Amino acid sequence: MHRTHTCGELTLADLGKTVVLSGWVQKSRDLGGMTFIDVRDRYGVTQLVFDTADDETLRSKARELGREYVIKVTGRVIERESKNPKLATGEIEIKVSSLDVLNAAKLPPFTIEDDTDGGDDLRMKYRYLDLRRNPVRNNLVLRHRLAQETRKYLDLQHFLEVETPVLIKSTPEGARDFVVPSRMNPGEFYALPQSPQTFKQLLMVSGFDRYFQLVKCFRDEDLRADRQPEFTQIDCEMAFVEQEDILNLFEGLVKHLFKTVKGIDLGEVPRMTYDQAMRLYGSDKPDLRFGMPFVELNDILKGAGFPVFDNAELVVGINAVGCASYTRKQLDALTDFIKRPQIGATGLIYLRYNENGSLKSSADKFYGSEQLQQWAQAFGAKPGDLLLVMAGQTDKVRKQLNELRLEVAAQLGLRDKNNYAPLWVVDFPLLEWDEASGRYHAMHHPFTSPKPEDIPLLDSRPGDVRANAYDLVINGTEIGGGSIRIHDRELQSLMFKHLGFTPEEAQKQFGFLLDAFTYGAPPHGGIAFGFDRLVAIFAGIDSIRDVIAFPKNNSGKDVMIDSPAPISDEQLAELSIAVK
Ligand code: ASP
Repeated sequence: MHRTHTCGELTLADLGKTVVLSGWVQKSRDLGGMTFIDVRDRYGVTQLVFDTADDETLRSKARELGREYVIKVTGRVIERESKNPKLATGEIEIKVSSLDVLNAAKLPPFTIEDDTDGGDDLRMKYRYLDLRRNPVRNNLVLRHRLAQETRKYLDLQHFLEVETPVLIKSTPEGARDFVVPSRMNPGEFYALPQSPQTFKQLLMVSGFDRYFQLVKCFRDEDLRADRQPEFTQIDCEMAFVEQEDILNLFEGLVKHLFKTVKGIDLGEVPRMTYDQAMRLYGSDKPDLRFGMPFVELNDILKGAGFPVFDNAELVVGINAVGCASYTRKQLDALTDFIKRPQIGATGLIYLRYNENGSLKSSADKFYGSEQLQQWAQAFGAKPGDLLLVMAGQTDKVRKQLNELRLEVAAQLGLRDKNNYAPLWVVDFPLLEWDEASGRYHAMHHPFTSPKPEDIPLLDSRPGDVRANAYDLVINGTEIGGGSIRIHDRELQSLMFKHLGFTPEEAQKQFGFLLDAFTYGAPPHGGIAFGFDRLVAIFAGIDSIRDVIAFPKNNSGKDVMIDSPAPISDEQLAELSIAVK
């Protein structure tokens, strides 16, 4: 027998029992008369003790154990002299009577501790060792819990988990496809799904009514901390629903997850239109853990002869509450922050509302005290506040001020990872102008339904057409998004036309869906949640890599298995791919 107990469960209640434990050597301490070994498994750590009363072969065997050796011990549970209240097993230790080395181990390339000395690259190369560390394993335990609770909730709501294929053809979600050559069909390729979008819609046509899947999706994009080329979605679709039904049902899912996994009552999730979000926060995923809404100042600050403001389309600012004491240096640092090429703003104007009630602005020359008063009033500012104002072209300046708002909030400690502010953003635009290609693209995807009342605008003001599309945002991160779909062939064809497809192209690429719509497609809609991001939010970490067992690095590589890698000329020839 390898074990009677795990390394995480023995307590004073087990005193006197003879037990068998197996695990990895976490560390050993030799104190002359006594040798202590910590043995670790997934469940915890238990202290083993050997002393001079033991037979010498047993003791020397214990002394020779190296870190990460796999051992099996038999012994008696005894009370510890110096207890460790931080450890579940901290009140007992095992007086060992026999010790087997099940497998020796080389010294690991980094320490298997919560705070390891291993850098990113090394940890990725030896990911199987990294996964022995508590913080990494705990993230995967959390991931498991969230997956189980998701399945539980959706099952109770009568959703069916259906698997959709992985070798498909392009489903447009706005990224590049990963493709797989087909040996049996020379010169032809499958695409890996960017999402199961078209399949889940077809399942609605088939009458499945409520579908979900925890599913891998693939997008060939440039990588960032919150992106991986393959990632997991909680993908869902429902028939005979309107937007309201979907928001309610999935608000229920999110609340269920917070309640069961974190013990948090989330309360009702507020809603905001896309327009409001852009106007008030300059972002379609505002972080609402704190306020600091934008205040538009065109009426107050333009026309005073200050060219920076007079020439701008929009003058807009935020109130950094309580920051009037910011030093020149701090203000310069904020200015440098927004001038970085990634943000690209030209400058920052401030108005200090000093504790003594006086007002001091970096544009004092152009404004009398009455105007400064008005300026402060527009923000509802109080003594001690600092107003930060930017000016420029509307969309650009909003984006730039959004960055500043987030930075100031971070400096003020307002972005606490243990605080959760969810938000539904609704009424997204249907189409988005793309400078590079000089035409409109679907903001969500081409299957998203326009709001019926906006359909007449499709020809005249396509940019103003709103969609029945929504995102769930938590703490400034987009966690999920979806839409009510088009279920009518005519309207879907019209959408394709507006997206620049000829009828032939539309038929060729999406004929199967257009055809399906002629065989009794019910009204339907759905949503998908980025599962990795959701887990990362629950774990309170920024990078989704840390919640994935075997992630890729920033160059899209798995350095452990060394992939991607070249393939042989024979394989290439078999796939009818020209050998260079
Ligand atoms: N397919 C969409 C996505 O992957 C989600 C949805 O519309 O349900 O973002």
